[in-house]
Amino acid sequence: MSVDLCTCAVIAGDDDPLLTRVYAAPPRMARTAFQRDRERIVQSRAFRRLAGKTQVFTSRVSDHFRSRLTHTMEVAQIARDVAARLGLNEDLSEALALVHDIGHPPFGHAGERALDDCLHRHHLSFDHNLHALRICEHFEQRYAAHRGLNLTLGVREGIIKHSRDYTPEKHPELALYFLGQRPPIEAQIIDLADEIAYLTADLDDGVESGLLDIGHIREHVSILSDSYTAVQQQHPGVEEKYLFNEALQLMQNTLTDDLIATTLANARAIGAETLDDVRLHPNRLAVFSSKAEGERLEEKRYLHSTLYSCPELTLEHDKAEQVVKALFDFWIQCPDELPQGYVDEIPSEGLARVVADYIAGMTDAFTLQQYALVKRAVRR
Ligand code: MG
Repeated sequence: MSVDLCTCAVIAGDDDPLLTRVYAAPPRMARTAFQRDRERIVQSRAFRRLAGKTQVFTSRVSDHFRSRLTHTMEVAQIARDVAARLGLNEDLSEALALVHDIGHPPFGHAGERALDDCLHRHHLSFDHNLHALRICEHFEQRYAAHRGLNLTLGVREGIIKHSRDYTPEKHPELALYFLGQRPPIEAQIIDLADEIAYLTADLDDGVESGLLDIGHIREHVSILSDSYTAVQQQHPGVEEKYLFNEALQLMQNTLTDDLIATTLANARAIGAETLDDVRLHPNRLAVFSSKAEGERLEEKRYLHSTLYSCPELTLEHDKAEQVVKALFDFWIQCPDELPQGYVDEIPSEGLARVVADYIAGMTDAFTLQQYALVKRAVRR
């Protein structure tokens, strides 16, 4: 019996359908298809804009807060580590981690909520996974022969399925992405690598912001508290800030090790030996153990009640929602004020979707700049 899951990995041999691209691309000997996808993602404009998008803190009072880009880099290194240690296709996992947040609008979840509310008034909705696919297939325009990044089917499937499954009944347009099947483990681990990254980073940034207190976290978040006690025993007499950093690292390693061990045990338990076994199993195999899952939920509840919904961040989020909604309403009323490329899309996509597409692509700073311009235009 293999010590890892290499027999369940996406192997991606020459004729593997997962390597299919919409437009033919001659193979490059030196790089695998998923390495090429990773490069296309990293070189995209949408990827660069992640540097200007909120992760948690909208107003940047510290240069050390995570942006969507630095968060993405953290997810990529965790995902690559997990994939390597499980014997999976590291290139596929890394490409999926790098692209996983590319569909996020400005101002984090506040921006996403606002766009979704706006679209609901037009009987539509906003979903950042589906938007990520639209960016990769449609909005990126870098190549002479086609629109989009022309990514492999394997990466496109992972983009929409890394955090949830879509039903063929509700999404017939996604039929080519094997909707009745689970995604490969390379894609399943992305959502959990994302969880590990932000559970660690948000405590770190929360303390950096002064909104969270290390002592209070230790009282209420058992996984951090256990890690802190362990590093304290290892480094007696060391200053709290160093112990906290060490505890965060230990917590991240503990969650990563748990994900690897639990995923391996789940695959063993169902006798999974091939990618098809993974795909046809009714549940995802990549999960945390029930202990780690309990600790994850405890920390998530703590972050919600003490950080995400604290008055300082609520104020920032309310303002962000107001800005997004005002911009949306403006372009719905004045579609001619949209950039020409977006005006051209209106007949095929509909005005509301086009306005949401335009706003979703913006960085925080560009959104605020547009808001200032629109306010001035409305006053005139
Ligand atoms: Mg993320």
